Amino acid sequence: MDLGLYLHIPFCSAICNYCNFNRGLFDAALKEQYVAALLLEIAGKGEGAAADTIFFGGGTPSLLEPSEVAAIIAACRGAFALSDSAEVTLEANPETVTPERLAGFRAAGVTRLSYGVQSFRDEELQRLSRLHSASRAADAFAMARAAGFDNISLDLMMWLPQQSIAQWLESVDALIELGPDHASLYILELYPNAPLRDAMARSKWSLAPDDDAAEMYLEAMSRLDRAGYRQYEISNVARPGRESRHNVKYWTDGEWLGFGCGAHSTRRGVRWKNVSSTTEYIAAVANGGRLDTDRRVLTGREALEEALFTRLRLADGIDLDEVKTRYGADVLALYGQELERFRDAGLLIYDGRRLRLTRAGMLLANEVMSVFLTATVVD
Ligand code: SF4
Repeated sequence: MDLGLYLHIPFCSAICNYCNFNRGLFDAALKEQYVAALLLEIAGKGEGAAADTIFFGGGTPSLLEPSEVAAIIAACRGAFALSDSAEVTLEANPETVTPERLAGFRAAGVTRLSYGVQSFRDEELQRLSRLHSASRAADAFAMARAAGFDNISLDLMMWLPQQSIAQWLESVDALIELGPDHASLYILELYPNAPLRDAMARSKWSLAPDDDAAEMYLEAMSRLDRAGYRQYEISNVARPGRESRHNVKYWTDGEWLGFGCGAHSTRRGVRWKNVSSTTEYIAAVANGGRLDTDRRVLTGREALEEALFTRLRLADGIDLDEVKTRYGADVLALYGQELERFRDAGLLIYDGRRLRLTRAGMLLANEVMSVFLTATVVD
C-alpha cells in the first residue's frame, strides 16, 4: 500500500473552549518559520517512496497562504513518488476562506476540503466559542463548490451543551440539504480541564442524558442512509467512492509519515511521534537535531491487536482470512469466547468471513475492542 503523508499545521485564529489538539494562536512570523521548517523536514526525509495521499491537518491549515500550501505539496512531490491521482485534503475553518483563497488552494493541488462546521445552529456555535456562524458555513461550502471542489467533507459534533435531539437533527438535516460528499459525526468529548466545562458550570448548561446521545447517533445515521450516504466507519459516512483514502490507511494497517510538530508516523512496524512544541520543532529542524520521540517497534502481539481494533471501526469489519494470512492469527480461536457475549447482545455480527459491529455495537465500540487488549495472545 502506498504511503500517506500527514502535515500538521498548529495555528488557529482563536482557541476553541473544548479543543485538546496540538495547536496555538496564529502568529504570522512563527508560521513563516514553521513552513520553512516543514519544507526542510520533508526534503530531508524524502526517499522516493510511493505516496498517494496528503492530509493537511491541524490546527487550522486553511490559515496558510495558498502559495505556502503549493510549496509544501511541491516538496512532497519532490521527495516522494506522489501518484497523479493523489488525494490531497486540506482541513479548513469556514471563516478563513474566500473565493480567491479557495481558487488558490485548488490551483496549489488541493483536491479535497474538510470543513470544521460542528453545528448549523448559531447558539451552539457560540457555546463552543467557534468563530463562524451557520450561514458562514453554508456560504463557505457554496464558495468551495463554485471554486470547483467536488470532494468536500463537513464535520459535525453531537451531544453539545443544552442540545436536544431535535436540535441536533436540525444540523444533520442542514448538512444533508447542502449535500457534501463526505461527513464526519463526532460525539463531543470533554477533556478534564476544558474551559467549556467552566462555561457549562457558570451558565448552568447541561448535557442530554446518555440515552439521548445514543438516539442522536442512531437517528443521524438513519437519515444519512436515507439520503444516499454509506456509513463506512464509526464516525464517517460518504457518497460512493468518496471515503477518505487517507484516513482509511489509519484503520487498515496502512503506513504513513507525519511532518510537523507532534505528527505521528508508522512505517515498517515502527511507530514514532515528532516533538510536540512548535518552537522546539522549528529549532530541531534548524539545528539538524532529532525530531522523533517515543520511537518503538511494535511487537507481533501489539501489531495484531492494533490491526483488530482499528479494523473493527470500519463498517466492513475484520476480514478473518486476511488477518490469518497477514498475522497468522485465528481471531475466533483467540478471542471467540470473549466476543460471544457481544454477539449475543446484538452488538457484533460474525458471518463466517467477517466480524463487524452492528450500529448499536458502534456506540459501545470501546467496550468490544477492549477484548483485543485483554485476551492472552502468544506472540
Ligand atoms: S479551530 Fe480546531 S484545532 Fe483550532 S482550537 Fe478550534 S477545534 Fe482546536
